[in-house]
Amino acid sequence: MKRFYRKICVSLLVVISVAVTGCGKQTRYTAVDTVMGTIVTQTIYGAEDVTGRIKALLADLETKELSWRVVGSAVANINAAAGSGEITAVPEKLNQDLNTLLGISEKSGGAFDITIAPVVRLWNIDSWAAGVNPAEMESETTEKSAEESQNPSALIPTPDEISKALISTGYEQIEKTEDGILLPAGMSIDLGAAGKGIACDRIVEFLAKNKVDGAVVAVGGSVLVYGEKPDHTPWQVAIVDPLDTAKKLGVLSLAGQWCVSTSGDYERFVEVDGVRYHHILNPATGYPAESGVRSVTIVCKSGILSDALSTACFVLGIEDGMKLAESYGAEALFVDDAGNVFLTDGMKQIFVRKK
Ligand code: FAD
Ligand code: MG
Repeated sequence: MKRFYRKICVSLLVVISVAVTGCGKQTRYTAVDTVMGTIVTQTIYGAEDVTGRIKALLADLETKELSWRVVGSAVANINAAAGSGEITAVPEKLNQDLNTLLGISEKSGGAFDITIAPVVRLWNIDSWAAGVNPAEMESETTEKSAEESQNPSALIPTPDEISKALISTGYEQIEKTEDGILLPAGMSIDLGAAGKGIACDRIVEFLAKNKVDGAVVAVGGSVLVYGEKPDHTPWQVAIVDPLDTAKKLGVLSLAGQWCVSTSGDYERFVEVDGVRYHHILNPATGYPAESGVRSVTIVCKSGILSDALSTACFVLGIEDGMKLAESYGAEALFVDDAGNVFLTDGMKQIFVRKK
């Protein structure tokens, strides 16, 4: 964990550089921060530095709405009311987002499921800091850490623990009303698979209201491109090679506003006895999804769809994942275990493979 925070601190030292682009009053503002347990990088082109306001917007979204970890957030209130018989009223936008996510659960046959929370807690995925393998980490944070450092297989829940946790999952058991939600006793929700996409949607609203000319904002694995660059060339979003994360597979060339989300088994994982356990779980088994896929990138206008679909498609695998993405009008790029790349037709128009 220390290494993760060191990485963040180094990033923070790079924070906020401002450079004049030479295009009239348009200035380029950049910032790097951490929000939602991930790194947020902003490049904004406009007359005013709005990076601080975007950071505040994201921090509010995390603490007031999305984080189950923050007492008093909408999601924490929903979880706390599980089994009470009382519907928890939800802010309007979040309510729409929950409806969207339940729709994806249905269309994906449960491959995407926000009620997977108890199983996520059991795997203790938060301790698998992004980009750091906990098996190699200086232990300090988790309750199990002393035991885990002696015996890495203690990181893996037992089949019995997983079966028990799975009993408290299942999106079909959610009672959803027009403006609220009720969970049965013992259940909880986790928006980790969609929260950064929701963040991108809220940023788009902000940028439009504040007349920003162009922006690239990366909220962890979800990247928003918006408006135009001063030189009017398309935005370039690099795609990491999941088989060798130091390399790029290629770039997406995008004009205007788009959201690009990637789910990969290299983001958060632990290796025990040569087996990689990653953070994208198959709700049918409670174990990391084994669909023959190493990463999925989704491109569409909506942040919540791009983020949730990238997770759903990872669980479903290439064939069913392609169908799901296409049913939402989204473009998809899959990389399989052998490094083969599979693209939807629209993706072929925007993906430029590195030679
Ligand atoms: P994605 O594929 O988008 O999502 C994977 C995550 O979704 C898993 O980690 C799990 O939580 C959940 N999930 C797994 N399988 C499924 C499934 N089949 N269906 C639905 N959901 C599934 N991390 C921290 O370590 N500390 C924090 O304080 C913290 N705060 C956060 C606050 C918010 C509001 C959010 C949204 C996330 C927070 N996170 C935190 C988690 C972290 O930022 C990312 O969510 C996590 O790294 C996964 O994102 P991803 O894009 O890599 O993967
Ligand atoms: Mg996702």
